[in-house]
Amino acid sequence: MSITVRAPAKINLHLGVGAVRADGFHPLDTVYQAIGLYDDLTVRSDKGWGIDVRAAAYVASGALPPPGLNIVDRAARLLADLHGLDPVGAVDIYKDIPVAGGMAGGSADAAAALVALDRLWQAGTSDDDLLRLAAALGSDVPFALLGGSAHGTGRGEVVRQVPDAGTWWWVLVPSAEGLSTPEVYRRFDALNDDPDPLPLSSTVVLAALAAGDPHALAAALHNDLQAAALDLRPDLGDLLEAGERAGALRGLVSGSGPTVVFLAESSAAAREVAGRLAEDVAVVLVANGPVAGAHVVPEVGTSWPT
Ligand code: ATP
Repeated sequence: MSITVRAPAKINLHLGVGAVRADGFHPLDTVYQAIGLYDDLTVRSDKGWGIDVRAAAYVASGALPPPGLNIVDRAARLLADLHGLDPVGAVDIYKDIPVAGGMAGGSADAAAALVALDRLWQAGTSDDDLLRLAAALGSDVPFALLGGSAHGTGRGEVVRQVPDAGTWWWVLVPSAEGLSTPEVYRRFDALNDDPDPLPLSSTVVLAALAAGDPHALAAALHNDLQAAALDLRPDLGDLLEAGERAGALRGLVSGSGPTVVFLAESSAAAREVAGRLAEDVAVVLVANGPVAGAHVVPEVGTSWPT
């Protein structure tokens, strides 16, 4: 038996970051959107445990951790422990989401693994337990299960879906090399010597999503980590300007970067912006959102799962 689960990349339409807490985490007020760029994870029954990773040419898969340390290894152990099972199976991951790109590709794989292995092992894990395991694996993993557009609080792991009247068109420019999320937070701390303990509220972005107005959303997009990411990667500043010159309504660093995302007015406008950027930039992608969270992909010739 083989089961394939597809999980989306995320972008943060608002990322408010408060002062670092005693436990080392920063409190966040964030708005996530799941967009149509995916990792696919297939699991098959096996006597042992193994993970094989393949990736699109633009994904720096060399930056992935060695066997045993993939976030999917941790997801399998947590789920198996919950049910008193042996973590067995053969896992194939195909990555289209950049590694260390600020798009939560590892979190997507972890969410996909929880859903796929739960089916493979016929474990019948409740939604509440899946969300609890997801939060233990990482701040962005609960959102990767949920998908859509969502408000995140806590360290990002407390998520609730929010009204979204739009189909939003994004042009994405990944970088050949990733940025370490902890390093970006350290730079954020260094640049902000007297930060507000409370993160900036995302009310304006939430209102723009509910209204479905791309111009309002463009004006509202906000990322408190952008200055830190630009400090580490000044070239991203030129890229942001180039995208806006190419016709994007607004450019933004995605999460901790270095992927840069541009909001376009329509699908046709996104293709135009992408075409202009592609004259100077090696890899340009177009995706829309919101899309579903981690979900089983039906085998060819079968009907959709109910
Ligand atoms: P986030 O936006 O959630 O901070 P990111 O998109 O910047 O994350 P990821 O690609 O999720 O970055 O990876 C973060 C780190 O996790 C990488 O440095 C990588 O070594 C490690 N990692 C472990 N497993 C995976 C995986 N399956 N895919 C990607 N990275 C993984």
